[in-house]
Amino acid sequence: MTTIADRLANAQHRIEQAAQISSRNANEIQLLAVSKTKPNSDILAAYTAGQRRFGENYVQEGESKVNALKDCCPEIEWHFIGPLQSNKTKIIASHFHWMHTVSREKIASRLNEQRPKEMPPLNICIQINISGEASKSGATPEELESLASKIEQMPNLILRGLMAIPTATSDKQLQTDEFQQLQTLYQELKSLYPRVDTLSMGMSNDLEQAIAQGSTMVRIGSAIFGERDKP
Ligand SMILES: *Cc1c(COP(=O)(O)O)cnc(C)c1O
Repeated sequence: MTTIADRLANAQHRIEQAAQISSRNANEIQLLAVSKTKPNSDILAAYTAGQRRFGENYVQEGESKVNALKDCCPEIEWHFIGPLQSNKTKIIASHFHWMHTVSREKIASRLNEQRPKEMPPLNICIQINISGEASKSGATPEELESLASKIEQMPNLILRGLMAIPTATSDKQLQTDEFQQLQTLYQELKSLYPRVDTLSMGMSNDLEQAIAQGSTMVRIGSAIFGERDKP
């Protein structure tokens, strides 16, 4: 039987190998453990094994986990990676360290207003809809520059980079094309704002391809915590 600690070590190992193949330093690629739908005991197991960054997708679940794990796991850095409605922004602004899915000025501006003054600025990634499908969330590449410049002017937010969920496909060429387009947008953003340092892309099944195309943060759920129950 494999444990969460074993699977975490395995995910780390995959990151190191993928980095090596691309002649990259594995230290520049962070592992975000995606714990959505999983119990607090699983998060504690990963924390005990040394993991510090965790990603959650659902507002209520995330809030309750942040509160429940505050005392036993004080060093957790919480990342919100799910869709967010504007009436829920306050919960994210007051509980999380990072928010990966900003795609509209309205959401950014509410997070900026609602970030508690005693907390450091909220780290922001702009989510990009790279496939251009209307059904998907994220800003279009054309909207990126203007949204980034607005976020830059918000004192309680720090623009850290881009996040994307590329098309789920077995077509390796399409997948590589999308990762490459994201990497290009990321480099453009970085040239405008040198502080930008995060390209959040790659999940359990495609982290190797994402790292080959410059990912700096892979979001790994099922490879660490096992398959999720279907909702
Ligand atoms: C669930 C989720 C992940 C993790 O996916 P796995 O395939 O389980 O690794 C990563 N990113 C986002 C945005 C997710 O919703």
